Amino acid sequence: MVGGRISRLSVRDVRFPTSLGGHGSDAMHTDPDYSAAYVVLETDAEDGLRGHGITFTLGKGTEVVVCAVNALAHHVLNKDLADIVGDFRGFYRQLMSDGQLRWIGPEKGVVHLVTAAILNAVWDLWAKQEGKDARTLLSCIDFRYITDVLTEEEAYEEQMLTHGYPAYTTSCAWLGYSDDTLKQLCTEALKGGWTRFKVKVGADLQDDIRRCRLIRNMIGPEKTLMMDANQRWDVPEAVEWMAKLAEFKPLWIEEPTSPDDILGHATISKALVPLGIGVATGEQCHNRVMFKQLLQAKALQFLQIDSCRLGSVNENLSMLLMAKKFERCANMSDHLHEHFTYPVTIKNASYMPPKEAGYSTEMKEESVKKHQYPDGEIWKKLLTAQGN
Ligand SMILES: [Mg+2]
Repeated sequence: MVGGRISRLSVRDVRFPTSLGGHGSDAMHTDPDYSAAYVVLETDAEDGLRGHGITFTLGKGTEVVVCAVNALAHHVLNKDLADIVGDFRGFYRQLMSDGQLRWIGPEKGVVHLVTAAILNAVWDLWAKQEGKDARTLLSCIDFRYITDVLTEEEAYEEQMLTHGYPAYTTSCAWLGYSDDTLKQLCTEALKGGWTRFKVKVGADLQDDIRRCRLIRNMIGPEKTLMMDANQRWDVPEAVEWMAKLAEFKPLWIEEPTSPDDILGHATISKALVPLGIGVATGEQCHNRVMFKQLLQAKALQFLQIDSCRLGSVNENLSMLLMAKKFERCANMSDHLHEHFTYPVTIKNASYMPPKEAGYSTEMKEESVKKHQYPDGEIWKKLLTAQGN
């Protein structure tokens, strides 16, 4: 039963000092501290349920996002949850259309990250109130016209419950890792049953050749290797560089150039298809309009969507339905899951759907307290050590 008026919205700046170990490092982001603006919605309903939503950041940006959450909060506060989800499209549009805030978007950048955090919290609260799990999501999808490829039963029984979603690991080949660390983590991942590996590239060609050779030799010719340049190259440079890495048989090159360069991606894609390399992008693609054009321009083979950047489930669904063909291989970075109340479950190198109601975005209060910036225990120590 959906009910209650949103009586409180709180947002916290939570940061994990991942840069200390080089975790998450790539050719453009050399010292990321994996972080989140963490939104919690409360209602005046007696069930005491809360909605938890996050958007992902790399550290300092979190304080800007936190400001913007507070600026948008009046669209959510004092609203009945039933009214919000009863006209979810209208509510979505209202959030995106704030007459003053949309000027610093629209539907992109910080204001869009913020709508993701808020909408993720609304979805979490709604699903918890309804006691619905992953199966509920299927009821949002219009299967008409796609049942020859996928029916609702097939999607649930076979794909979600039996196989889960094939995942890959980036966790052994961040750019800041030494060869020894890479070897050690790759060995562990192979033992853990991983079959798909992603390596960060783009800063130095000779380094890339050495690291790609190392990892390809370790995983053998059958397993899948992907590469990610995190927007490092110009268009011609991307084509030349990837021609030199083609011998390592990557399935895709991810974000080879500016994430806004649709025609650039199309040029790269056209050049790399004969080499058997696809183009993947989407991690920093800000909205469905960009995705539409990437698809129209045949600029990618692999669509990567992020519900912490796009307008939550609402916008992700439009993306999935727009894509004629999408790769169901999902990203897996095996860091920080221990801080979540319902951590992701991996079985046979695949994500399994969560059994609990909600969005699985709730973090452990103890972890949030410790990592809150700048007053959490972890940051107090680090900032003192740095003399700040
Ligand atoms: Mg990436």
